[in-house]
Amino acid sequence: MGAAGAAIGFLWGFFASVASSHWRAALARTSPFAIILGIGIGLLVWLPRVAGGEILEGAKLWKSALGGIAAVVGGALAGHFALSWLARRATPRPWPADLAILLLIALPAFLPSRRVPNSSDRLNVLLLTIDTLRADRLGFTGYPQAMSPHLDRLARRSEAFALAVTPQPRTLPALASLMTGASPHTHGVRDNFHYTLGPASTTLAEVLRNRGWVTAAVNSNPVLSHDSGIYQGFATADDRGDDWSRLTIVRGLRRLSTLAAMRTRDRDQVVTRLAADWLKHRASPGRPFFLWTHWLAPHMPYEPAPPFDLSFDPGYEGDYARVLDYDRISKGDMTYRNPLPPRTIEHAKALYDGEVATSDRAVGALLREVEVTGDLDHTLIVLTADHGESLDEQAYYFNHGDFVYGPAANVPLLIASPENSSGTISRSTVSLIDLAPTILERAGVGGDAFAAEGRPIPHAPAAPDADARTIPLFGESDFCRFPDLNDRLGFLLPLEVAQNPERIPDWKEKWEAQAIRAKQRYAIVAPWKLVLSPHPAGDRLELFDVSRDPLDLVNVSAAHPEITKNLEGLVRRWMQEGEGRGTSAGERILDEETIARMRALGYIGK
Ligand SMILES: [Zn+2]
Repeated sequence: MGAAGAAIGFLWGFFASVASSHWRAALARTSPFAIILGIGIGLLVWLPRVAGGEILEGAKLWKSALGGIAAVVGGALAGHFALSWLARRATPRPWPADLAILLLIALPAFLPSRRVPNSSDRLNVLLLTIDTLRADRLGFTGYPQAMSPHLDRLARRSEAFALAVTPQPRTLPALASLMTGASPHTHGVRDNFHYTLGPASTTLAEVLRNRGWVTAAVNSNPVLSHDSGIYQGFATADDRGDDWSRLTIVRGLRRLSTLAAMRTRDRDQVVTRLAADWLKHRASPGRPFFLWTHWLAPHMPYEPAPPFDLSFDPGYEGDYARVLDYDRISKGDMTYRNPLPPRTIEHAKALYDGEVATSDRAVGALLREVEVTGDLDHTLIVLTADHGESLDEQAYYFNHGDFVYGPAANVPLLIASPENSSGTISRSTVSLIDLAPTILERAGVGGDAFAAEGRPIPHAPAAPDADARTIPLFGESDFCRFPDLNDRLGFLLPLEVAQNPERIPDWKEKWEAQAIRAKQRYAIVAPWKLVLSPHPAGDRLELFDVSRDPLDLVNVSAAHPEITKNLEGLVRRWMQEGEGRGTSAGERILDEETIARMRALGYIGK
């Protein structure tokens, strides 16, 4: 901001002078402006590091501060000497008016941003969701290679949940469940393409807005574009965090750090900057806010922002160095028939970890903004994911959605309340459908303000394993986009219907029932998880002990026939109850632009 003001001031002064007299005299007068431009350039070099959200402590902090000062002073001196040299060759004439006008223009840019924390006695709510973030690839969940210092730091003042799941491992259905506290068969959004969240659904944002919260959402995933219905109750929703040309014009000129984030093609930092801008400039700053921010990095393509593109596997020099996408291998082949050699698969996992680190850095930058605005002590923070990602488990590679196994169904979950900075780990079984009632209860609205299937999560007990909640949880897969490659499920859609979801006008009448029948389902009653795979030759049942085997790798149903039978009864009853209900979901017709944005991310395409 300061740098932008200085640059504008310099240009103004320069051109004003050129218009009035000889160009060399004009240059002479602009020497002070050159100094300020130099400061601007110095800040531009320095800011991206700071805006990058790196945690700076001890020697690193000093190094960064000295680097910043050196860049600013160096830039200023270089600007000054360059123009002074030119000035000596002309007739220097002081022009104080220019300087005065410049200062007048630039001064507001150097003033600190307006920072008025929430002055009401109600908590702000900050909902942070990271797309495709596996629960087990983070430092606080015990992954030794993780670079997630910001999430780990948040975990130290949060309740962390070791057994949190999504009701469907696909973006829109999962987040519709989070917002409504309902299963996909209740809100009716069963996949990313064919449904909108109906206006009759009550959302977390609507309840909070009606009780006086200022609501806003920021996101860059086209699946969550405005026509999805997910923004019900949000007073403002910026769903175009991936539209960089628009951002350059609208935001970039106001915040050079946004430009810096775009320069590194770090879309998660752009999302953070948009959210931080909203925090700083929001209307009614004295009222509590509900801000939902959704980052996308761990989703395919795996293309971590520097330096995380090289952090986890710097020695790899093959075809997929620094980027894994569908350019060389189709999505179906990548997902089901993965032909990549083991060394490349290892590199792909390193790239995924790099994506997680990219998101962690962006979340850290936003958390710091909340700290700077003075809101942290007055904010309930909930961090989770819409779903995880299968890396190679169950021979399902770098994708999610077709199955309900642990890698994609498990999600990380942190709840940080200002009054409860405990750092506890809960083994209660919880689902994304529990979050809306939980947030409402902890924000003081009352969990019963909301007709949800989910239930408020009690505070984690101080002692691990004490009184862990074990209510049954249920969920489903998406429909499978690759019926020709998937031999594990039956009743799958015909290939042309499954692979062109955006072009099936008679979905509801002709194909919906079959798509729903073909879904895999799960029931969890800790420590057991049953997975039901529909098949014409007889449904297949698998049982897993999630306390020992959270990724669902070892089927133990043969050793526990009674438990398998009980859970099968539960899941079939849940399906029957749910499928019998009508829903208020609308029909989604994707426009060309959204289709193009989805295609760029590999959502659409073979
Ligand atoms: Zn997603």
